[in-house]
Amino acid sequence: MSQIPFAWVPAGGGRHVSEDRRPSGRTQFPEGQVVSTLCGQALEAREGELAWLWWTCPECDTRAREIVGAPPRRDTESQA
Ligand SMILES: [Zn+2]
Repeated sequence: MSQIPFAWVPAGGGRHVSEDRRPSGRTQFPEGQVVSTLCGQALEAREGELAWLWWTCPECDTRAREIVGAPPRRDTESQA
């Protein structure tokens, strides 16, 4: 499995993407860690099942897709 250089992180009421380093051995950011997101915010990470149901930040989604070379998500491309 290739190493993706970012991680999804529930923070600030949404699911964002961050390229910050995670603590070794962890696939997610620990609760309370301030992470810088691809949409340019600094937010406190949250853990827990409910947090993963938050909305997906469209800017982070778009940038994450650019990083891995995936096509943009069609159903949210109303601005482009
Ligand atoms: Zn974001």
